[in-house]
Amino acid sequence: MKPERCMIITIDGPSASGKSTLARELAKQSGISYLNTGATYRAAAIKAMREGIDLADESEARKVAKRLDIEFIPPTESNPERVLLDGEDITDEVLSPEVSRAASIFSRHRCVREKIVGLQRKIAKRIFKTQTELADEQELCGVVLEGRDTGTVVFPDADIKIFLTASAEERARRRLIDYNLPESELENLKAEIEARDRRDIERDVSPLVPAEDARLVNNSEMTIEETVQRVLELINSKT
Ligand code: C5P
Repeated sequence: MKPERCMIITIDGPSASGKSTLARELAKQSGISYLNTGATYRAAAIKAMREGIDLADESEARKVAKRLDIEFIPPTESNPERVLLDGEDITDEVLSPEVSRAASIFSRHRCVREKIVGLQRKIAKRIFKTQTELADEQELCGVVLEGRDTGTVVFPDADIKIFLTASAEERARRRLIDYNLPESELENLKAEIEARDRRDIERDVSPLVPAEDARLVNNSEMTIEETVQRVLELINSKT
């Protein structure tokens, strides 16, 4: 029998708000798996960088978008998550700050977003199907998509939508720790985060905005565990 508590969940929010960590923790604590949509934009940016195009050029971007072949394989108990570009494992490459900056520029093109949203829906549906087949009847299961527009554009009919945010200062502190940088870099990181927010919020196509029916979670003063518990409460109250 199909489990009753299988759902599509979206987590959107600005960079470094803790979306990936939250999605990974939910996956560890339930039968929910995830798709990191940022990784798909990063993969696309890697292809564009490798082809040496001007990332801001729409017609060049269209040519690259047409040929995009990206796969996201969620983690299993024995294997970490993987990102594939044209069949090649680029999991480590997607993490670099250079790729992150490139993704932020390349993801502004409508043609790129349309192509990638199609790929994301396909990948998420496959993950959802697998999790549904694996789950026990009463188990909480399904797929979480995390990104910027997963609740507004990719799955506007998602069962639960979370908009996760934190102050720019707190997000800069988290990046300082992630990248192992000295305290003196804090202001630079904060400025970079604010610039990234502006690009995401002000872009014409799929800007970063909370869906009307999203639940807002500000985790500036919450630990990871508290954030996970809060989101699990929201999910459980829905089921
Ligand atoms: O989340 P992450 O930092 O990996 O995303 C990389 C870039 O891809 C972001 O700066 C953002 O511009 C873009 N992105 C997006 N829509 C998403 C996920 C990421 O535009 N759903």
